Amino acid sequence: MKVRAIQTGFVRIKTAQVEGRGHGLSRRLAIFTDPDWTDWVPTYAWLIDHPEGIIVVDTGQGAHLLETGKSLHPYVRWEVAFRIDREQEIGPQLRALGLGPRDVKRVVLTHLHMDHDGGLAHFPNSEILVAPGELKTASGFAGRLRGYLPQRWPSWFDPKPLDLVTEPFGPFAASRRLTRAGDVVAVGTPGHTADHISVIVQDGGTAYFLAGDTSYNEELMLAGKLDGVSADEQVSGATLDTIRRFTQSRPTVYLPTHDPQADGRLAKRQVAAIGEAARSIARA
Ligand SMILES: [Zn+2]
Repeated sequence: MKVRAIQTGFVRIKTAQVEGRGHGLSRRLAIFTDPDWTDWVPTYAWLIDHPEGIIVVDTGQGAHLLETGKSLHPYVRWEVAFRIDREQEIGPQLRALGLGPRDVKRVVLTHLHMDHDGGLAHFPNSEILVAPGELKTASGFAGRLRGYLPQRWPSWFDPKPLDLVTEPFGPFAASRRLTRAGDVVAVGTPGHTADHISVIVQDGGTAYFLAGDTSYNEELMLAGKLDGVSADEQVSGATLDTIRRFTQSRPTVYLPTHDPQADGRLAKRQVAAIGEAARSIARA
């Protein structure tokens, strides 16, 4: 089994979205008043080359996102910017690896924000799994008001419900096995969105934690710092805490969608706990 990072262009957002400022509504409004942008950061999708079939986690950005300046939604219009061309979309990149649309058995979406579902059109033949609550939140006019782009979903988009069951996986109370071998598991990581999920790949003694947007980088997760968009601070904080406990329970390579260091950590199999230990050695 192998996990690969597939970078689908770059995004930049406001610094107040990466690390929330203040509490409650003012934390969420801070994004709109913050004049400061992050650097361009990558948007990764993930390929799990599994003996039971290839699984893709998130589909990344699409070139259509370059038109978000025309959107009526204030966040989409003013608070996020994308860099991507058609050849950087996930479809052409998989083709370059020798994989066609029929070669991907399953696509699992951590959530339905536009930089995660932007490559859906490349997977007309795959089984697509989405948490039912997330689908409901993102659908229709109400979804558009929340900043989702359901009008951009392919006409055939009709995902299967990714229902979690009360089967603990480490410190996570609910989970769902995605392979018969039980080595690829979805866990609930609510916060960034209410029904956000993450996917854990267990290979040998190492866990690869495909974290979506649970945090924008590893440091923020280890420090337990919330982003600027999570609706419920308690829920988000509890999720970061659970992830931290998971990383302490076994060697874990933590891979958020927009962490510039994620690809390097994956290549080196650098685990979160060792990173922390290395930092404390550096401080001593
Ligand atoms: Zn997101």
